[in-house]
Amino acid sequence: MSEKLLSVKNLKTSFFTGRGEVRAIRGIDLDISRGEVVGILGESGSGKTATALSIMRLIEKPGRIIDGQITFNKSNLMDKSEKEMMEIRGGRIAMIFQDPSTSLNPVFTIGNQIMETLIRHKKMSREEAKERTGELLLEVGISNPRNNMHRYPHEFSGGMRQRVMIAMALCCQPDLIIADEPTSSLDPTIQAQIIRLMDEIRKKSKMSMIVISHDMGLVSKLCDRTVVMYGGLIMESGTTSELFKKPMHPYTRGLLKSVPGFNRQRSDILYAIEGSPPDMYNRFKGCPFAPRCPYAVKLCKIEKPEYYKAENGSKAMCWLLDKDAPDKLKKAYLGGA
Ligand code: SF4
Repeated sequence: MSEKLLSVKNLKTSFFTGRGEVRAIRGIDLDISRGEVVGILGESGSGKTATALSIMRLIEKPGRIIDGQITFNKSNLMDKSEKEMMEIRGGRIAMIFQDPSTSLNPVFTIGNQIMETLIRHKKMSREEAKERTGELLLEVGISNPRNNMHRYPHEFSGGMRQRVMIAMALCCQPDLIIADEPTSSLDPTIQAQIIRLMDEIRKKSKMSMIVISHDMGLVSKLCDRTVVMYGGLIMESGTTSELFKKPMHPYTRGLLKSVPGFNRQRSDILYAIEGSPPDMYNRFKGCPFAPRCPYAVKLCKIEKPEYYKAENGSKAMCWLLDKDAPDKLKKAYLGGA
């Protein structure tokens, strides 16, 4: 088995607002091995981005990690000082954000921004950093790097800026890249190019990646394993191939059914999960998906389900996978696969 790079145990993160406590993450466990690419899927507000920011220790006030352990490269990130975390961020863990235009500094050339990271984290001389910046720009598909490195972010298109962000993430050869919705601000044709680029990178390098997205296509193409989040909890996790072929959790099924062209005929009516995502100010007594779940029974509303190992090897948080679940219900549920 490959070596574990990241281990998150019982992570809980909340935001303390004037209205009360927003429980963004309610106790999740997540392991990533070296070289593994894990996708985190879910609707907005499910806790995907809060998970990434918690791992990077970038949760800002009024938010706070209130419990849990984050072990990276065998050391506990919760014990690190801010200075130590700054070395880890950009050096060992890099992040690619959703909107490159807000992540790049508009007053510095893109060459300068990449070079600064190399000088700071890799202790390169200016000349070495310039040389490496040129190589990195070529690696991410930006031609004529000698000229392009002197341009400012606003002179680049959205797709080119995302390529620059990827070059910045790659420049220190981190152990882990966290990409938060890396394609959602781009046009579909550019999205495809960025997915192809990330796929090439993952095949060439031994880096691990966490890809956060609500885009099933992106996750199914890039990720070895997929984790599905809802209401700040993990609903299902498993290998991407099995989870997409035979989703076990009713929420995962709804999510996949609601994507045009995914396991569906063109003529099918587009499916929508009824109801709205949960109010994150609430404490859930039972299953967070119960108000929207077509299979919910009384127990679902009063007791939180455990994680069960499903027949496809996934782990899912649903009472229907309990061996003692009523046969009639199991039949209706399995028949709906
Ligand atoms: Fe639906 Fe109950 Fe399973 Fe939750 S535990 S997903 S409400 S059947």
